[in-house]
Amino acid sequence: MNFLDRFRYRYDNLKELDANISSDKKNLNYNNPILKSLLSTSVKVTPEIFPKIDSCIQSVFKKLELKNNFNFFVTANHNQTQASCAMMPESDSAEIIITSRMIELLNINELSYVLGHEISHHYYQHNIYPSPNQAKSKMELLKLLHLSRASEISADRAGFLGSGDIENSLKAMLKIASGLSEKHLTFNFSSYLDQLRELKQIKGDQNQMYSTHPSFLNRMQALVWFSMSHEYHEYFETNKNGVYDLKTVDQKINESIKKVIGNELDISTKEIFSNALMWCSLKIFIADNKFTKKEQKLFEKNFGEKNTASILSLLKISKPKSIEVKINNALNEATNLLMAEREKLFNELKKLNSVAESDQKIVQTSLNDIKKKLKI
Ligand SMILES: [Zn+2]
Repeated sequence: MNFLDRFRYRYDNLKELDANISSDKKNLNYNNPILKSLLSTSVKVTPEIFPKIDSCIQSVFKKLELKNNFNFFVTANHNQTQASCAMMPESDSAEIIITSRMIELLNINELSYVLGHEISHHYYQHNIYPSPNQAKSKMELLKLLHLSRASEISADRAGFLGSGDIENSLKAMLKIASGLSEKHLTFNFSSYLDQLRELKQIKGDQNQMYSTHPSFLNRMQALVWFSMSHEYHEYFETNKNGVYDLKTVDQKINESIKKVIGNELDISTKEIFSNALMWCSLKIFIADNKFTKKEQKLFEKNFGEKNTASILSLLKISKPKSIEVKINNALNEATNLLMAEREKLFNELKKLNSVAESDQKIVQTSLNDIKKKLKI
């Protein structure tokens, strides 16, 4: 086990997703023609051609205690500060491509942060995570983005550990975010963290919600917090104690990102949950083709007057088939919920419907059907 496993960000985990989203390793686009042509037009890093970059690479692998099975390339791009990691799933080798602009902008110590970051994407096998482009619903999209942002937090930590220096890592982040060199930047980190506070006060930036990367402000803050963890200090024997335990750090980061991007994932979860609870209750109540006064009262108590009134008029004017479609839609959407949420939904349904006036056998059949559809 490498220490990178120990320091992996808690939310950078496929288990954050539900059973419906499986990573299809066969679909990975390694044979991407753009990537292929990029590799054929880029210059491979060798000690002869790029001695400084090459020794920087060696030192990062040493610090990360990993074997270097990688190929590094520099590609001519004067506009974009980019580095990317192209890899085959479960392969022990990868290609890392860095733009010339990135190399020009960063000094060699800062570059080691970028290299550590990219190398760790391969170590953590982030390429097996489903791409947000594959999302079939908004909920799924939000969750895949959440996972993608989480993977960046882990990779940033590896960048820091690979460079061995928090200042250089933060400087690299700032240079990449601003595109500016030393000439124009002052590295007063507390003022950037002030910027983060302001961002939260305006209740986040909605554009960030659909971003695959967390805001650079969140990322800087996340790294500073990580460098203050007991676990980090203990492992690297810094003679300092640290301020937080790593679990607290991870929770703080998650909350901080949520404040910036807005709580959309939580809000969507709640909406889907309560919608499914309402339609599934109805399914059970009307399983015997009756919606008794007592059931209506209970329904109203749980889902409100307005919802009950519209359900009643819907029942009057719609064919049973179209009600069933609505119920199934709500159930389908609920399959996107995390496992814990689906179980909670099912338990609440059981509780709520223990008072249904239908025959218990009919109630049980409906519950079983719901259970099966929720995949629990
Ligand atoms: Zn990355």
